[in-house]
Amino acid sequence: MIQARSISLKEYNTFHIDVNALYSFFCISEAYAREVVKLSKSEEKKIVVLGGGSNMLFTRDVEDILLIMQNKGIDILNETADNVFVKAAAGEIWDDFVAFCVEHHYGGIENLSLIPGTVGAAPVQNIGAYGVEVKDVIAEVETLDTETGEKRIFKQNDCSFGYRDSIFKNKLKNSCVILSVTFKLSKHPRLELSYGNLNKEISQKEPTVADVREAVIRIRESKLPNPEKCPNAGSFFKNPIISADLYLRLKENYPNLVSYPTEKGKVKVAAGQLIDLCGFKEMKENGVGVHKNQALVLVNYDNADGQSILRFSEKIQAKVFETFGIHIEREVNVY
Ligand code: FAD
Ligand code: NAP
Repeated sequence: MIQARSISLKEYNTFHIDVNALYSFFCISEAYAREVVKLSKSEEKKIVVLGGGSNMLFTRDVEDILLIMQNKGIDILNETADNVFVKAAAGEIWDDFVAFCVEHHYGGIENLSLIPGTVGAAPVQNIGAYGVEVKDVIAEVETLDTETGEKRIFKQNDCSFGYRDSIFKNKLKNSCVILSVTFKLSKHPRLELSYGNLNKEISQKEPTVADVREAVIRIRESKLPNPEKCPNAGSFFKNPIISADLYLRLKENYPNLVSYPTEKGKVKVAAGQLIDLCGFKEMKENGVGVHKNQALVLVNYDNADGQSILRFSEKIQAKVFETFGIHIEREVNVY
């Protein structure tokens, strides 16, 4: 018999926003998720899914059903000469899963070490870091439809993966529960070391996936704020992709603008630099500010509530637009 609990979410989101969830359920299995879907139908309540809360901003109490994913299990399904197919339950901690794969010398996700959160959330925004996106190793995503209660398998091509985006983050937001993800990993990995200072951080002549994981962890720990000490939800905005024309015009006034070419002749600019150039590193309001090493990360310095963080983020968006004519899109999910 499943039982709803009313809990504070302070320890269930990395901004440490203290809101209440009135009907929360800790999902430990597929059968449990099915029971919750049935209940949501009979009670006529929506389901909101939560993993580790590291990409969420809560601005109010949750009156919908909150399904907190804690189902566990890692299974090796199949092996070929070159690849291994590994299925991981949605509630597994992402970085524990990366550690498992690295220990077994399975390559493909070592650059994604130390990203907070759960396996089930990884496809939602197609997590990415240091030149790798998780879409490249996802074989399929197993889901439960919260409307029909039916199971649906999404093959990689069905997921509409994009830059920090997928079908689960927009069209199917809050209408399916991801139960597990199956990854196609490599037994003979080609390491991706071209991003930033990753190569410099690795001293070994013939690095392994374990060496890459260690280097990524070192870089992240030296630069990015640990949410336990400094509550945050990672990059608050996506890096905007702008036209080459606009980029060239901006470059005249801002010659040091960082940029990266993308497909179709467009240019990715670093949202953190735009925010920094608008002077936000010096500013704090109602306990909210940006991080000193990376202005893309908003920090809850002093028990701010979700509304204050949201308002501060909107102020940043408006100023960046006024200064550069660029709309920076939110990456974090607001409730
Ligand atoms: P949550 O925050 O709980 O949920 C995020 C969204 O996914 C919500 O909309 C939720 O409803 C949905 N969701 C979660 N689980 C499921 C499920 N099982 N089924 C259906 N929907 C679900 N992200 C990157 O891409 N790259 C990084 O390098 C990175 N670094 C970070 C560093 C820090 C310090 C922090 C705090 C965050 C960082 N993030 C990064 C953002 C975040 O960690 C990832 O987006 C992560 O995948 C979120 O996982 P989560 O379990 O915490 O998801
Ligand atoms: P960084 O290295 O200071 O770089 C700043 C931005 O420039 C990054 O966001 C990155 O875009 C882009 N960039 C840098 N080198 C690039 C290259 N060689 N090719 C293409 N784009 C490049 O960034 P950071 O803050 O320390 O983060 C390091 C990595 O971790 C980045 O990949 C970042 O996305 C990821 N990260 C993500 C989050 C999150 O919440 N989403 C939080 C922390 C870190 P990309 O973001 O497109 O890579």
